[in-house]
Amino acid sequence: MTDIFSAEKRSEVMSRIRGADTRPEKAVRSWLHHHWLRFRLHRPDLPGRPDIVLPRHRTVIFVHGCFWHRHEGCRLAYLPKSNVETWQRKFSSNRARDVGIASECARLGWRVLVVWECAIRDGTFAADLKESLFREKAEEGSR
Ligand SMILES: [Zn+2]
Repeated sequence: MTDIFSAEKRSEVMSRIRGADTRPEKAVRSWLHHHWLRFRLHRPDLPGRPDIVLPRHRTVIFVHGCFWHRHEGCRLAYLPKSNVETWQRKFSSNRARDVGIASECARLGWRVLVVWECAIRDGTFAADLKESLFREKAEEGSR
């Protein structure tokens, strides 16, 4: 088989594939750093091993890919044209899993935030996170 990539190109492509689902999470992490928020990653003792945990805010953040986690109304959450039934089965089990995890976390007293991949791509996640994480504080301060 002919290798269509040079070695250098290949390793670049491979690293892009490997990093595919960690990159969006990195954007969120650097935003949190920038705002001096302390967090932990993938705490295994919490339901669904949340991507990011903010203990002081008692908040867990899941960084969700729009396609796999079916972001409603999102252009990235398209339905593949073939094997439609298989995909739909897979999607609905992903969804049920997400709902279960979120309600488990909530039951344990954690606030659950979801950051969608598309919001990371267009940068709007920052305003949303700010709103969710700092609103409470602002309300306390105004009392
Ligand atoms: Zn989306």
